[in-house]
Amino acid sequence: MILDLIIIGAGPAGITASVYAARKRIKFLVITKDIGGQAAWSSDVENYPGYQFITGPDLMAKFQEHMEKYGIQLNLNEEVVELEKKDNIIYIKTTKASYEAKTVIISAGKKAKEIGAPGEKEYKNKGVAYCVTCDGPLFAEKDVAVFGGGNSALDAAIQMTDIASKVYLVNITGAFTGDPIMQEKLKNNPKVKILHNTRLESITGEKFVKSINVDTQGKKQALDVEGVFIEIGMIPNSWFASGLDKNERGEIEVNCANETNVPGIFAAGDVTSVPEKQIVIAAGDGAKAALGAFRYLGRLK
Ligand SMILES: Cc1cc2nc3c(=O)[nH]c(=O)nc-3n(C[C@H](O)[C@H](O)[C@H](O)COP(=O)(O)OP(=O)(O)OC[C@H]3O[C@@H](n4cnc5c(N)ncnc54)[C@H](O)[C@@H]3O)c2cc1C
Repeated sequence: MILDLIIIGAGPAGITASVYAARKRIKFLVITKDIGGQAAWSSDVENYPGYQFITGPDLMAKFQEHMEKYGIQLNLNEEVVELEKKDNIIYIKTTKASYEAKTVIISAGKKAKEIGAPGEKEYKNKGVAYCVTCDGPLFAEKDVAVFGGGNSALDAAIQMTDIASKVYLVNITGAFTGDPIMQEKLKNNPKVKILHNTRLESITGEKFVKSINVDTQGKKQALDVEGVFIEIGMIPNSWFASGLDKNERGEIEVNCANETNVPGIFAAGDVTSVPEKQIVIAAGDGAKAALGAFRYLGRLK
């Protein structure tokens, strides 16, 4: 059976696309590894209109409730591993089955690169965070460490100088790759201690993070911090989509209608080249992509 539409991912972009698709009575399926995506990791969401404060898991539960109202077919715990368009049909392979569709919306989001140090997984959301814009305010007047040496790490460290008491900026190489202007700001800030050539060995604590162990070219030390920001980059979940134009970061290139270079394949949210990665932006793009798919299906008739 050839479906009208398959939506890949059920974060803010995919769930919103599914609500719009259901309201247009499109015959479709959502395939996803989980519900909520990255948005469900955020402890505090204070910038989604309509909610002055809501936790990420609560907001995503509301998205899920909204989607379920439409009785949408949802294949959970299933990962798309291949996507290709041939002879006007889009073929999708997953970890469980194969599917065919006339249109697809890729809303598979991004994932943060992890350092892979002991304690990192255990203390995720208990002191270990991957988004300063989102979680930085939780560490007001506390000591924190930011890991990384590119623009996102430097920006994260600058943001934290306004919030935290002390900011360790820990870089694995001997020099930052981020902008010199940002480096200057940090070098002259008395709250900041820069550690180059330094590797994270482990993160320790009790219920929450209490300290980290680092190694600077053989010199080992423990730093008492309550917050650990890993800012070594994000990876778009776009690897399975062959034949699509992607930028140098691996994000799927889309136009302002969320169309990719392949007709019938749309993309929405963090997996795309659209600037700024936020829940409201992903949700808006999901809506646009679903409406675009609906119009495209109309033209096929
Ligand atoms: C810790 C943290 C806190 C944040 N806090 C905020 C905040 O306060 N406010 C704000 O606006 N933004 C915040 N953000 C950013 C926001 O979460 C993202 O911009 C938003 O979730 C992007 O939505 P998305 O649907 O594009 O992707 P995602 O949320 O990444 O969802 C992607 C979905 O695709 C699924 N998926 C991935 N690969 C596959 C595959 N191969 N097959 C099937 N399914 C797949 C995933 O399981 C997931 O369901 C935060 C991000 C993080 C990491």
